[in-house]
Order: sequence, then C-alpha cells, then structure tokens
Amino acid sequence: MVSRRFLLILLAICLLGLPLFGQSQSVSKANPRVVVVGVNGMELDVIRPLLLKGEMPNLARVIKNGAYGKLRTVPAPNCPRVYSTISTSTKPEEHGVTGFLVGGITANTNMLKEEPIWSILSKNGVSVGMANVPATFPVMPVNGYMISGMLTRGKNCEDGVLCAPKLSEVQGGDAVYPASFKAELLKNVGDFFIDCERMPSAEQLKGHETEVIDSWLKKVDVIRDQQTKLFDYLMTSHPTDFTWFVQSCEDRTGHWLYPIAPYNVGYNAKINAVRPDAFPNQYIGFDKVLGSILKHVDENTYLFIVSDHGIKPLREFEETDPHAHMDHEKTTPVIAKHDFADGDDVPGSFFAMGPGIKHDLRLMGFEATVYDVAPTILHVYGIEQPKQMRGHVLSEIFENAENKVALQK
Ligand SMILES: [Zn+2]
Repeated sequence: MVSRRFLLILLAICLLGLPLFGQSQSVSKANPRVVVVGVNGMELDVIRPLLLKGEMPNLARVIKNGAYGKLRTVPAPNCPRVYSTISTSTKPEEHGVTGFLVGGITANTNMLKEEPIWSILSKNGVSVGMANVPATFPVMPVNGYMISGMLTRGKNCEDGVLCAPKLSEVQGGDAVYPASFKAELLKNVGDFFIDCERMPSAEQLKGHETEVIDSWLKKVDVIRDQQTKLFDYLMTSHPTDFTWFVQSCEDRTGHWLYPIAPYNVGYNAKINAVRPDAFPNQYIGFDKVLGSILKHVDENTYLFIVSDHGIKPLREFEETDPHAHMDHEKTTPVIAKHDFADGDDVPGSFFAMGPGIKHDLRLMGFEATVYDVAPTILHVYGIEQPKQMRGHVLSEIFENAENKVALQK
C-alpha cells in the first residue's frame, strides 16, 4: 500500500521533531499563506449571468483583482477522480482513484497511489488545514488538521452512493485528524453534516415534487450554514499556512434542478418548473460563503478558487439511456451531468488572486488544467515539483514571469 508509505514518511517526520497539531498549528511567518476554495462542479454558464447581474459580488472582486479562466479537466470527470488528480497532478489511472467506486469499493485514501499535495507540504514544514475535500476519507496525518469530505462513510451509506453523515455518524474510519480535534469541533461548531444531502429518488418525488424539492433545498441551506460556520471557526481558531475547503451542494443541486428548458432531454414540468432558480441560487449562496472566507484573506494571502468540472444538461445522442448516472443516486431523474467522455464538454474553472498575481487577467481556451493546480501551489512555497506531476506552474498568471513568485522563504 503506497498510502501506508506516506504514513511512514509522516511518522518519520514526527519522530524527527517536526511540529504537529497542538504544538504549532498557526501560520508560520516564514511561509506564504495559501487558501484554496473548491466548488464542486461550478458551471461558468450559470455563474456568468449572475456576475453580470451583480449577484456574486465576492467572486466578481476576485476576478477583478486576479486571474481566471476555464480549467481543463480529465475525461469522464467526477469529484473523487478529479480531486485526486488536482491533489497529485497525476492521471486517474496513476493515482488510482478512478471514480466513486474502485473495484466495487467506495473510493478512499487507502487507494491513493501518488503523493498528494498535503503530504508534500507537510513534509516541507508548511502547516496544513483541510475540510470537506472530496475523497479524503479516512483522513491522513498532516502537519495541522484534516476533516474529510465527500465519500466519508457513515450511517446509511451504501457503496458508491453518496450520503450525508453527520460528524457523529461517521463509520469505518476517522473523519478528523488529529482524532482529538473531533471533540473540539463538536463543542464549538456542532454536529455538522460532512457532505451535501443525497438526492431524492424518483419514487420519493412522484406526486410530492414541490414538497420534496422545497424540503431538500432547505436541508442544503442548513448544510451550507454549517459549512460556513465550520470554515469561519477553523480560520479564526486554527489558521494554517495552507488551507483547503470545499463545497459540494452546488454540484448535487445541478444534477436534478439545472434550469433546463422544455426542449432539453428529461424535462418534466412537475419538477423542472418548480424552482428554476434553485441551481443559480446555489452560487449566490456560495458567494456568501466566499465573502466569509475573504474576511480571512489579506493582501499577502494567495486565494485559489478551483472547480473540478462543470455540469451541463444531458447530451451525447449515442447514449442509450441518457439518464443513466451511476455516480450519485441511481434513481434520481437526472437532467444534467458531468461524466461525459470528453471532459472538455464540462471544464472546471480557476480563479487566482494574491501577491504578484496579475489583475483582471482572463485565461483563454485551456491554458490551465487540473494538473497545474498542485505545481502552482508548490511553486508559491518554493517547493520543487516532484517528477511524477504532469502539470506545470501557471507562470502566466504571475506578474514577473522570470522570478514568477517572490519567494518568501
Ligand atoms: Zn456530480
């Protein structure tokens, strides 16, 4: 098991006396500060009208003061597959987390065959804080803290189907590192949902569409409020050099409540005419979360907002069953998805702001890919890109392409 190798490396670091959680979890003066905000399946087609209407003021601020563009993703993208590519800068076949299910078992960190960025940063003395990042269950030791995200196993979780366990309902592994941190979170943040709510089945919806849609969206609001509180608590009480938080309700909402028109595949007025604002509203909700995170981002902090893929209404005429969507919930009437064979159909997105990053720069085409995120972050810390990483440093976003970043080490 290669992941066990990482554990051994980290154990060695601990024995060598590198400070761990509890002793030094605070921001180190020597290291740059980087905050990464992941938004699962952020769809530029949906956020652009909201930006034009002024309904995402915080993201608009980041765009104005930074660089942004599409982010080329992997073929047949889904969250665990792409997030593991983002964190290792290797192909899904190389890092091993090829989908929600790998060999019939729900993807987990024991399958990871390449070293993720949090391990590399930890080894280099960078303090790391992470919450809700998909495919980080069971949590791995870091020089800081880690709270797992999507695919955390718990009560009522079947293999390969997403569920929404609360922190107290987690089963089959640790959702919090260090384990002692869990009690502190329960006390100060409460018993929060680790992932977004699972989608309702066709059976649950039938005859109760409006009621089910409204109550599902209410639950999503509760989860987003909890995540906002969690992120704010972590950034206030446990600031780290490198911080990575992720939101996942946007993607889930898009799958069955994307604002499609009657000509789209799968249109059912009983569902799709009820809350056409539901999906765009997720991004307005996300923008508020971003506003709360931005309170902790000063002019010396690098902020990266990264989406693993977009999401589009059903297409691909060659599919015999366009509703077939095995990744989330097998019976939900899915009208939009992202696991198309050609990942370029559903690019993710990338936003960067911080010292030495160009202002008002738009990356055209596919200048940035999911492989480039980890090398660019390592570069900010002055850490050499490991050989196995397939991406490159996005030097085009920095003012001084020669020196790239004024290394602060
Ligand atoms: Zn999805």
